[in-house]
Amino acid sequence: PVAKDCPPDVEELGRSTWTFLHSVAAMYPEHPTDDQQQELKTFMVIFSKIYPCWFCAKGFQKFMKKNEPKVTNQEEFGRWLCDAHNAVNEKLGKPKFDCNLWKKRWKDGWDDGRCD
Ligand code: FAD
Repeated sequence: PVAKDCPPDVEELGRSTWTFLHSVAAMYPEHPTDDQQQELKTFMVIFSKIYPCWFCAKGFQKFMKKNEPKVTNQEEFGRWLCDAHNAVNEKLGKPKFDCNLWKKRWKDGWDDGRCD
């Protein structure tokens, strides 16, 4: 029998969404224009309202109210997003991710070439 795909649950949706968001950070310019900064800020505000897990969205809106997205450059945004993800990790009792490593995980790959 052919395996049928199922609608995503909160976990699968979360994993896919974090992959998307950290990839946005990885591709965000090192020197974004004013327009690019404004667009990313606007995107994050809208994202936090339409994220299709309502209690997750509420929690993320709360985080964003206290911690405005930092969009001045790639490193700033990557770190901000890592902190945001860690806030959710903490809430769920998951281990904290070392934000010094965000770029290796999501942009450059690990030193041992494991992602080549
Ligand atoms: P995930 O947390 O999905 O992480 C995927 C991968 O990202 C990890 O394997 C790791 O390699 C890497 N990673 C982990 N932490 C970081 C970090 N800080 N920075 C960079 N990379 C990292 N679930 C709930 O049950 N309740 C919620 O309130 C909730 N809120 C959410 C809010 C948002 C905005 C999103 C996107 C997801 C939310 N989730 C929530 C889902 C939750 O965060 C996880 O995605 C889900 O539990 C699956 O977890 P996971 O262990 O597979 O890894």
